Amino acid sequence: MTKHALLSASGSERWLNCPPSAKLEARVEEKSSEYAREGTFAHVLAELKLACYLENTTTLEYNRRLKKLKQDRFYSRELEDDVQIYVDLALEKINGAKARTKDAVVLLEAKLDYSPWVREGFGTGDLVLVTDDVLEVVDLKFGRGVQVSAVDNSQMRLYALGAINQFSVLYSINTVKMTIHQPRLDNISTAEMPVKDLLHWGEHVAKPIADLAFQGKGEFKPGVHCRFCKVRFTCRARAEEHLQLARHDFKKPPLLAEEEIIEILAISEALQSWVSDVQAYALDQAVNHNKEWPGYKLIEGRSYRRYEMRPKRRRS
Ligand code: SF4
Repeated sequence: MTKHALLSASGSERWLNCPPSAKLEARVEEKSSEYAREGTFAHVLAELKLACYLENTTTLEYNRRLKKLKQDRFYSRELEDDVQIYVDLALEKINGAKARTKDAVVLLEAKLDYSPWVREGFGTGDLVLVTDDVLEVVDLKFGRGVQVSAVDNSQMRLYALGAINQFSVLYSINTVKMTIHQPRLDNISTAEMPVKDLLHWGEHVAKPIADLAFQGKGEFKPGVHCRFCKVRFTCRARAEEHLQLARHDFKKPPLLAEEEIIEILAISEALQSWVSDVQAYALDQAVNHNKEWPGYKLIEGRSYRRYEMRPKRRRS
């Protein structure tokens, strides 16, 4: 099983905004979702196809491993087609890099160590290309969720720092390119920055906050980055922020004015998301851990094995 860094690149938007979240999250048991497992499978398939192209594996070995992957429960023709879209983009980039620099370095699933800036920080670059002057890191995101931009993306910057850490001694690199590819969302996003600016960000933005986060210090700061935080269900700072939002300061007269309704609409999405998280947590504790919540009862829904929490006083 892959050990994750406390200050992971994928969680960096969260811990850069809310440093103490890293230590708090570390107490929560790691649970891999079906989506994450499918993503891992897609990465393995993509790596195999690219390794075959790069002649890192024999045809015999390629066919043997592909046959085995085709028996996996995540395999489907549709998934392979989506993986192939990424493989085609990766090949285009590999060929472009080799055309520019004959002995370009091409790495698949490369371990990238960005610990000089972030203690014990490391991650995996799906594709790393090192040519004269330019280093590129490509990240495959296989989900169907939201489109992710590579611009101002701290995950990609940390990967790029890890790659610079490894290759800047041997190569004269002035520019980094960071590309995110989401084949299922038809999204390719690339950001480019001078190496000196990346190093400045690493030293003056990432490093001081990472030092706080590693010690569990800093301020809790709720925001959109709470979306994937493992403690979002029971986080006090998030609860207080939303309860504060809900405590709307109503003015006279007795009916709400249009601008007040607009203000409520503006905060309603965040409030709904928080309430849903708290409800999901309470339900999970009741169904899977026999937790009893005073004043509430667990009832079986209409469809098989669906449960709901209802106040005891209400008729079910
Ligand atoms: S839920 Fe939000 S505020 Fe709370 S620890 Fe996580 S990131 Fe920080």
